[in-house]
Amino acid sequence: MTIINPNYIYINGKFQENLAVAFDKKIKAIDTIENLQKNYPQATVEETKENSVLYPGFINTHVHLEFSANKTTLQYGSFMPWLDSVIKNREELMGACDNEMMMQECQNMMKSGITTFGAISSFGLELEVCTKTPQKVIFFNELIGSNPSIVDMLYGDFLERLDESKKYSNQGVTPAIAIHSPYSVHPIVLKRAINVAKTENLPITAHFLESQAERQWLEDDSGEFLPFFQKFFNSFKSVTKINEFLESFDDIPTHFVHVVQANNEELQYLAKKGHSIAHCPRSNRLLGCGRLPIETLIELNIPFTIATDGLSSNNSLNILEELRAGLMLHHLGSLEKLALLFIASITSKPAEVFALNSGKIEVGKDADFALVTLPAKPSSLESIALQTILHTKEVSNVWINGKKEI
Ligand SMILES: [Zn+2]
Repeated sequence: MTIINPNYIYINGKFQENLAVAFDKKIKAIDTIENLQKNYPQATVEETKENSVLYPGFINTHVHLEFSANKTTLQYGSFMPWLDSVIKNREELMGACDNEMMMQECQNMMKSGITTFGAISSFGLELEVCTKTPQKVIFFNELIGSNPSIVDMLYGDFLERLDESKKYSNQGVTPAIAIHSPYSVHPIVLKRAINVAKTENLPITAHFLESQAERQWLEDDSGEFLPFFQKFFNSFKSVTKINEFLESFDDIPTHFVHVVQANNEELQYLAKKGHSIAHCPRSNRLLGCGRLPIETLIELNIPFTIATDGLSSNNSLNILEELRAGLMLHHLGSLEKLALLFIASITSKPAEVFALNSGKIEVGKDADFALVTLPAKPSSLESIALQTILHTKEVSNVWINGKKEI
């Protein structure tokens, strides 16, 4: 048993003082240090520095590890030139990305306090790394394929990858499903994959309305996607419409990624059907996709998580850097309240969305923690979330299932 006695603990969406936590693999008790030492006299007491804040381990819901080799190759600023540069450099980037590089990025995530992440896997290349990293992984096997003549083959490949990932569910990997996007997945195989998710109760996620180009293509088969589809797929027409795609998910709460270009009506529909959103502020900025109206999500009570996306559209997988970028991007509303919502977006919210037994400091939850040390005493309890986001580049310690990893 271990007891940790930080200056502040993030519990139930706010910060409390004069509390300590006793844990082994799970959280056993939350009480004053005196009571815990009396009840667990054999426990080791973990030393913390002054101005320490204990958080549940952070959860990054959306990352593409397979693109970890990109640093300065891809073209940023606008979606289509970026996509063209991905296609042009894909083989070289995938070839340069080995297990060592992906493991290093898992470590980098952990240094920012990430104890669980959602890996979007196009080819299954990062599965071995995901079984070896100390972090817990929701392994989203991605389905892609819009051309009717080859979708069956691609669907077969997707099922094989999904089956492979199921073999490692006792090694910290949760098998799950990712739908690439409305424009790249044919409705026939989309329905099949959704049925698999429903019958096997698997987590499901989908990129949705990321760019203006995507919206225009889905709405009236025009815009920047038209020459792209003509060139690569000899296709002049989108395989689906926005509403048709959205309605496919009616009976299964889904974590939609980006959603920057959704209109108010579509956001209301997401709220009504119990869906949630992954928000990637730096990726959206770098690909010129616009600003997600986060204030509308808050108003409509749509649960959202903040995620890094992959290094194909970001300069790091540091979740605290992501929150800092988010704070600068979203200039409306109260700063301290937004900072608190952002902390929830990488702890309790993703845990609720994916039914994880973590993301909260509560008796019975997994002992996953990120310990942050502030540079000086915060002026109020209400400001701790904001000061954490502003001042933390790396966390001081990380525990996963009670084991100290940093
Ligand atoms: Zn993505």
